[in-house]
Amino acid sequence: MNRHKRGIELQKILTKSILKKEYIDNKLSSHKIAEKYNTNHTTVNKYLKKYEFCIRNKSESLIGRKRDILTCQNCGCKESNHHRANKQIALTVHHIDYNKMNCKENNLITVCNRCNIKANANIDYWFAYYKYQIKTIKETI
Ligand SMILES: [Zn+2]
Repeated sequence: MNRHKRGIELQKILTKSILKKEYIDNKLSSHKIAEKYNTNHTTVNKYLKKYEFCIRNKSESLIGRKRDILTCQNCGCKESNHHRANKQIALTVHHIDYNKMNCKENNLITVCNRCNIKANANIDYWFAYYKYQIKTIKETI
């Protein structure tokens, strides 16, 4: 298959909804998506940019996790206290405004999975709560 034809094919495959499903919902990395759809991650990133997805980079979530000293900002449990394999208490990054496309530092806060699940209900409460939390974090650094 020539390059041009392959490009057109990819355009049909790497659609916005597919990328949303794989990248946002399934949390696959651009490398993993590239593998799955038989292309390279540069191409996947190109499409992610085209559809205005915010590209996760490792450092972005690391900044958040470092800033929060690898501690759940709700219950205070520390990642080091737990086995990372224990999914319930592993740390994750919560999007304060519930918009997974918004990866700005002040929209990301470190929480454990347990607390992240809680944030799926009473959204208004948790939104206000973490907005407040992030403000106090920012003021202490
Ligand atoms: Zn927690």
